[in-house]
Amino acid sequence: MKAIVTEGHGAPDVLVYRDIDAPPAPKGHQVLVRVRACGVCRRDILVRQGPGHRGLASPLVLGHEIAGEVVALGPEARGLQVGQRVCSTQREFVCGCCSMCRTDRETLCPDLRFLGQEASGGYAEYVLINDDNLARLPDNVDFAHGAIVGCPVGTAFNAVCDTGKVQPGERVLITGAGGLGMHAVQIARAVGATVIASTRSQSKVRALEEAGAHTVVVAVDGNFAKGVRAATGGRGVDVTVDTVGGAVFHEVRRSVVPGGRIILVGEVTGTAVELDMAQIYRRGLEIRSAVSTSRRQLEMALRLVASGAVRPLVERTMPLAEAAAAHRLVEDNAVVGRVVLVP
Ligand SMILES: [Zn+2]
Ligand SMILES: [Zn+2]
Repeated sequence: MKAIVTEGHGAPDVLVYRDIDAPPAPKGHQVLVRVRACGVCRRDILVRQGPGHRGLASPLVLGHEIAGEVVALGPEARGLQVGQRVCSTQREFVCGCCSMCRTDRETLCPDLRFLGQEASGGYAEYVLINDDNLARLPDNVDFAHGAIVGCPVGTAFNAVCDTGKVQPGERVLITGAGGLGMHAVQIARAVGATVIASTRSQSKVRALEEAGAHTVVVAVDGNFAKGVRAATGGRGVDVTVDTVGGAVFHEVRRSVVPGGRIILVGEVTGTAVELDMAQIYRRGLEIRSAVSTSRRQLEMALRLVASGAVRPLVERTMPLAEAAAAHRLVEDNAVVGRVVLVP
């Protein structure tokens, strides 16, 4: 089969389009999926660039945002039939029996495999994925949109709904206008919150408003707390879903009301934060993190997408052979929505 194989680490030209062996017949709970779309995630770029990731599959085929059709089922695979349209979770939850897996928190299980990293991924014509890590695609959701529900959409659902427990009428600040931020805005709006979005870039304002933000605070220097307080009558927001990370932590902290919730999702700045604990303790703040998308969160996000309440943001599709060019577009921030590869 044709695949994009990551030949070493470095610039996008380590991504080589060539023939590799097709996966063997599925065993146990495995499902053979013919890939029809695979999203290009920032995570793919980090794995391609660095050797700093443990347990890489060989040959390394990237891609964890996968949609396709079921071609064959392992003898123990359940719940799916040949020909069905499916999409994947970001990680394979292979354990199923630890305290995390048994309490709907399998994304925190110590024994999971990242597709496209520790297991072969979706930059290929076929991929093997366990039955538990696939969901059926609703008829009205196409492959390109379905492919990204398990990563930016589902993780934003986790942050807003499950971890953030956002209630109708609450005021919610979403920081950052990347994949997580854009979908978090849509989901917070869909659950009835008043949504404030912050960005450093005037050019993102329109897209954030179209995603459903009631107010967009543009702070070129990243100091948005003042603008957020002004937008809430001086009060602040009940919840912040922060997709940026350490560089904006103190602005996030200053933006929430006493008793407010700070939800961390996706640390992209790698900035260490100096923190006086009294700044958290005295104001009764809560800090939680949302990691990835569980199977249930994938199903819930698919329902929101099928109902039209949330629109997965796919900016363009490209042939699989052009994966290197797709990586360059993402690295250069030349796209707002996802680039999706089609084998
Ligand atoms: Zn992803
Ligand atoms: Zn587990």
